[in-house]
Amino acid sequence: MCGIVGYSGIRPAAPILLEGLKRLEYRGYDSAGISVGHEGKLTVVKKKGKIKKLREAVPPKIQGVYGIGHTRWATHGQVNDENAHPHSDQSGNITICHNGIIENFNILKSKLLEEGYIFVSETDSEVIAHLVSKFYDGDLEQAVKTALGLLEGTYGILCMHADEPGRIIGARNGSPLVLGIGEGEMFLASDVTAMMAYTKHVVYIEDGEVVDVTPEGYHTSDLNNRTISKKIQHISWELDEIEKDGYETFMLKEIFEQPRSITRGMRGRLDKENGAAHLGGLNLTSQELLNIERIKIIAAGTSFHAGLVAAHLLESLARIPCTAELASEVRYRNPIVEKNSLYFAVSQSGETADTLYAMRELKRKGARVLGICNVVGSTIARESDGGVYIHSGPEIAVASTKAFTSQLTAFYLFTVIMARMRHLSLKDGMVFVRELGEIPSIIEKVLEKDSEIKILAKKYAGAKDFLFMGRGINYPVALEGALKLKEISYIHAEGYSAAEIKHGPIALINEETPSMFLIPNDELREKTISNMKEIKARKGPVIALAVDGDSEVGDVADDVIYIPRTHDLLYPLVMVVPLQLFSYHCARELGRDVDQPRNLAKSVTVE
Ligand code: GLU
Repeated sequence: MCGIVGYSGIRPAAPILLEGLKRLEYRGYDSAGISVGHEGKLTVVKKKGKIKKLREAVPPKIQGVYGIGHTRWATHGQVNDENAHPHSDQSGNITICHNGIIENFNILKSKLLEEGYIFVSETDSEVIAHLVSKFYDGDLEQAVKTALGLLEGTYGILCMHADEPGRIIGARNGSPLVLGIGEGEMFLASDVTAMMAYTKHVVYIEDGEVVDVTPEGYHTSDLNNRTISKKIQHISWELDEIEKDGYETFMLKEIFEQPRSITRGMRGRLDKENGAAHLGGLNLTSQELLNIERIKIIAAGTSFHAGLVAAHLLESLARIPCTAELASEVRYRNPIVEKNSLYFAVSQSGETADTLYAMRELKRKGARVLGICNVVGSTIARESDGGVYIHSGPEIAVASTKAFTSQLTAFYLFTVIMARMRHLSLKDGMVFVRELGEIPSIIEKVLEKDSEIKILAKKYAGAKDFLFMGRGINYPVALEGALKLKEISYIHAEGYSAAEIKHGPIALINEETPSMFLIPNDELREKTISNMKEIKARKGPVIALAVDGDSEVGDVADDVIYIPRTHDLLYPLVMVVPLQLFSYHCARELGRDVDQPRNLAKSVTVE
């Protein structure tokens, strides 16, 4: 959600800032701006809309080797040029970029207005520029710290002063901030994708820390001026992973990448000989794992759906009671932390505010929380007691695809470990692990159906409403299919357990409301076919996802996408892929911006 970038060094700053903002585009935003310093003057250019519009507005000859930039996802005030960042103080000598929300801005603003400060935007962020100006007496870092001391809420901030060329002050409380270290140049950004083209040496700034940056170096400290020494870390992602690599969109690239991303997530972790798995980062002994009596998963959006699949899986294969819950709800209902329970916080970005705050609340109550994250060094990954990196590689499209299947992979591995410590026999464990290892090649086969699915999408993209039906472990996959379709095509879609339709949703069925049925060859197959017949009897069009050779489904459904057979519990990994492709092609058919759907943000860093 929104992003900030900063650069101080030897090269023209504007192109580096614009490129950095472009890399952060995927996080979601509605306006963008930069401020560049040159010869004792800070120039600000900001525009509502896409980076392209900002790029056109930036004078081609703009000079200056340091500056800051911002993509805004409006929280306070309309989406327009005035409310876009950077914001300046009255003199124009100070510029700031802010991600997050200043919760007490109203009180601060009223006071500043009384003192004669003039505001030009409706944002909460503008108070920061005026506060820094009010406290400035020759030392920008100190002025920023004094201002921050008055703020309540969340922030990732960058700030410059015209009288201190090359100096950028960054600070973080709740919104991510990373420092990139080059030779004679420094980079700042909300995430590493903005600086990967220049450096792979980074320092993650933590909540409560302030970083004082010049081209030659940096100094980190807290608000009370205590120095904090930081570890320099190395980014393992490669630049080509954040490029489209010949695909028309990031989303399509990421859907097609799944055989490889799942393989990466399993590498070195499958123990075929013992029908088990290894996960190095759990930070739990076998004894501790054996003592776990209950598992709870907290997550939001697509990660929540992965959690629902995992809950079913852990109960059926490992026989451990497990539930998945929306993180946003957990935090505010005074959750009960039971002894011998283990929690998972699942988040692709590792920055999801709802999940992070719920995790902190649970930890405060003494819970042991493991993270399942993609972004290495992210806040949830750092603050959890251990966990699993899913190694999906950067996911740039806002709608999650490969991170979902990688999250599932992590849960399959964890479940095998737990199951083999309990009821799963060596023989059954070996079968399961072998079938899990075959999933990437099964998904390859599903991806070959792309053009077939595209034709189906053309046929159904005109629908106003869509229902997705699944049962058992595939019920959450139906929820995920519906979420994907609404996220990127804006077609209204709902996911249901197929058994539930007679309790209400069947009232929606008519010739214009199609249903997508997920029908694996498992113990619920017959019952799901009956549910599908109930829809057909009411003239509802039906697409079915069925297993190769299932002609009975073919006889009932209007259209069928056939998928290869796998282990009953592994179908979610396979079933979700055609649903991703179907949503994708519906959205393209309707001319939607699939990588950056309206109103959505990738990394949801506000509650
Ligand atoms: N709350 C600020 C605004 O509405 C910053 C939003 C953001 O994080 O982009 O301008």
